[in-house]
Amino acid sequence: MEEDSYAEIQVLETEEAAQDDLGVQPPSKCLSYSTGRFRNGATGLCNIGPTSCLNSLLQTLYMNKDFTGILCRIGDPDDNVRPDGQLPYELLALFEAMQNSKEDAVSPYQVLHCLQILRATVFAQNDVAEVFSTLLSLLLQTVPSPHLAEKMRALYTIPMEECVMCQRCSQQRITHKDRIAIPLQISHSKFHRNLTLERTLFRYFRSQETYEDRNPCPKCECSRVVKMTHLRSLPRTFSIHLKRLSRKNPLQKVNRTVSFPLVLDLLEVLDSEHLPRKEYSLVSWDDVKCTYGNTTFRWGLTACLLVYVQSEAATSDTKPPL
Ligand SMILES: [Zn+2]
Repeated sequence: MEEDSYAEIQVLETEEAAQDDLGVQPPSKCLSYSTGRFRNGATGLCNIGPTSCLNSLLQTLYMNKDFTGILCRIGDPDDNVRPDGQLPYELLALFEAMQNSKEDAVSPYQVLHCLQILRATVFAQNDVAEVFSTLLSLLLQTVPSPHLAEKMRALYTIPMEECVMCQRCSQQRITHKDRIAIPLQISHSKFHRNLTLERTLFRYFRSQETYEDRNPCPKCECSRVVKMTHLRSLPRTFSIHLKRLSRKNPLQKVNRTVSFPLVLDLLEVLDSEHLPRKEYSLVSWDDVKCTYGNTTFRWGLTACLLVYVQSEAATSDTKPPL
């Protein structure tokens, strides 16, 4: 493939950079992505002990342009950065090494060293979702700007809402339960049926009748409830955790086939009641009249700029000159 065919894509969007006047340094460097592969081809990460799970996770972060776009904006570390605050800088240095390396693989040693300083238990864990949660949590703690930390958090956080409705009196209790990955339990099946991600996601979100013995209805104390989960909004990155450790025996892995699509269209998978609600605040003409300027009106607001748009009827009768 010719070198020219590797179109470089600026990781950062101009609009985002323009918004950043909140004390955040402008981007000092960007990673370059091609359409489908990297300029020097994919670069692996050396295993240093039992780190294959962490390395796979690092690769997914590296491939996520939104994530690296945020990370690139941390700037260079100054002399005051303590050893336990080096993680984002070493992660960016690793990604730059992956970007520029001519080797098949580079060493993530410095990132692992940072994690050891932070006493992260990512090496003992074999559950990639736990490693993901730990790593993201540490990054949010050590990214030098709260603004960038919030962007990073929003990139991966899936805002969710659980509604528990009493089956006797219909009293509803709504709880916000944000996650960084949707947990889908994969179970053994004596029928050896294959699963699809779409079907498993649908079952996770559907209404379920159950008992809340420890947390009965506060109004009538009935414990029979209907539980339903829905998405409050969708983040740019939507992660799904296929929980393949057996419930009965956590040391046993469930190797059941779960097929998943190249493109996941949630509109096709979930009912509209589980998807983010589109809430509109329609303003009536009576609402608008509250801005005439009388402070006793409901809003106490005064209109200062009136914008009239020529109606279609007017334009069809007497067309204005071009
Ligand atoms: Zn009730």
